[in-house]
Amino acid sequence: MTNAYAAAYLDSGALPVLPNGHFIDGQFQPPINGQMMDSLDPALGRPFAAFAAGDADDVERAVASATRGFAVWRKSTPGERHGVLSRMAALVRRDAALLAMVDSLDSGKALGEAEGDVGATARLFDYYAGIALTIEGTQIPLGQDLISMTFREPVGVTAHVIPWNYPTGTFARSIAACLAAGCSAVVKPAETTPFTALIMAQLLVEAGLPAGVVNVVTGTGVAAGGPLTEHPAIRHVTFTGSVTTGARVAQVAARNIASVTLELGGKSPLIALSDCDAMAVANGALWGIFSNAGQVCSAGSRLIIARPRHDEVVSQLVALTEALSVGHGLRGCDINAINSAAQLDRIAAHVDGARARGRTILTGGATGADDARDTGWFYRPTLIDDLPGDDACVTQEIFGPVLSIQIVDSDEAALAAANATEFGLMAGIYSRDITRALAMARDLDSGQVTINDYWAGGISVPFGGRKKSGYGREKGHDGISAFLSTKAVTIRLTPPPGA
Ligand code: NAD
Repeated sequence: MTNAYAAAYLDSGALPVLPNGHFIDGQFQPPINGQMMDSLDPALGRPFAAFAAGDADDVERAVASATRGFAVWRKSTPGERHGVLSRMAALVRRDAALLAMVDSLDSGKALGEAEGDVGATARLFDYYAGIALTIEGTQIPLGQDLISMTFREPVGVTAHVIPWNYPTGTFARSIAACLAAGCSAVVKPAETTPFTALIMAQLLVEAGLPAGVVNVVTGTGVAAGGPLTEHPAIRHVTFTGSVTTGARVAQVAARNIASVTLELGGKSPLIALSDCDAMAVANGALWGIFSNAGQVCSAGSRLIIARPRHDEVVSQLVALTEALSVGHGLRGCDINAINSAAQLDRIAAHVDGARARGRTILTGGATGADDARDTGWFYRPTLIDDLPGDDACVTQEIFGPVLSIQIVDSDEAALAAANATEFGLMAGIYSRDITRALAMARDLDSGQVTINDYWAGGISVPFGGRKKSGYGREKGHDGISAFLSTKAVTIRLTPPPGA
């Protein structure tokens, strides 16, 4: 079905009505300092709208609003939480075309990817609507004289710092769980993708969420994100972004003894064992790395392949890669824009470095789109072959459409190579022998493992990292834990000893 918003923008540059200002106390409010920033269309490399450049004063106002919001929402019944989250799922589905178009325009991602993320967003609200009905404590037997029970209570006012690669889905996975638990929130979206968080905060109020429970402050990481994550009223921070910023966020939150969930980067391996299905690997590797132009924390950015299967798999992969179109996300191209000029430069520097080191670039290795109208930030899908384990393209996250290929001679060597980076987010295994694959899954040091389908999973599967990929889990039942605090209440049923 055609997206009318996308068609209007491509035809004449016409935009839907976009939110204006921060979202605080249930309404849009201008920034106190009066400053605005441009949001850019990455496929054209030029501004399309402005948004509020918030700072500590706006954060103060938003945290005060969230504190009032928490006083109301913590007392809501499971049924009330269920109702708001279910209605929100329906509203996301009602406004799916708008959300997908704005997400695609703001981030650069392909419209189909954005539609997929909006679909997952609606499912996340549905899922946590169900979870809201199931939060229960326990009763602990202590003999005849005492009885003890646990209450699972919301932790309080929470902060959510969102990256630019999945702005809609990342907002949803953290906010849906937060609201199901009875917490309130201040959200800081990435400065290159501010709009869908603002739209969804307003939708939550339309769904019946009391004003002040979810607030959004836009602006840069330093000016708005910093004051938010170090605010003493914040009891939990969910941060999704880079390792460097995540470490800083954990440090400032520690000053307030606030808990933190860190969803950080990755260098995830897709391991093709000697008995793999070659075509399944080629297709899995293709979309494992090239979805969202490789700007995915859990992208399968390394193909670790058994030597006897290398030529067959890699020749298919080269053919599939060279058939991909590169262009404006709203026009439905396979490889969409890179989110910013700075990110494009980082990707190009990685590949240029590999070239200078004499590595084999099988295809790609250049900037630019297929269509001269797309003058923004594009990088051609790139395959780099036969890399040693210590190459920078194997050890460092590139966050772009670049697949690093490593060749190995045994399952043990594949496992060692897979675990050899400082990250531990995701791993995929391709094998026709499930016991062989399961043995490897057990020994992989990563938060998730998929077998014979790199992107297998869903919103009910817990997601998170090990090592420098972070800690804590989002999605699934585990995703609610960060927002709940256990209180033990113990009662004496008989007179105390000696009374
Ligand atoms: P980033 O760390 O630069 O920015 C992420 C967010 O943090 C943005 O909203 C930014 O404004 C904010 N921020 C920046 N400085 C801050 C500060 N001092 N205090 C508080 N907030 C601050 O990350 P990025 O480069 O925009 O995103 C890409 C990275 O995110 C990649 O490394 C990727 O792997 C990671 N990521 C991880 C996941 C996951 O779920 N594990 C998902 C998406 C992206």
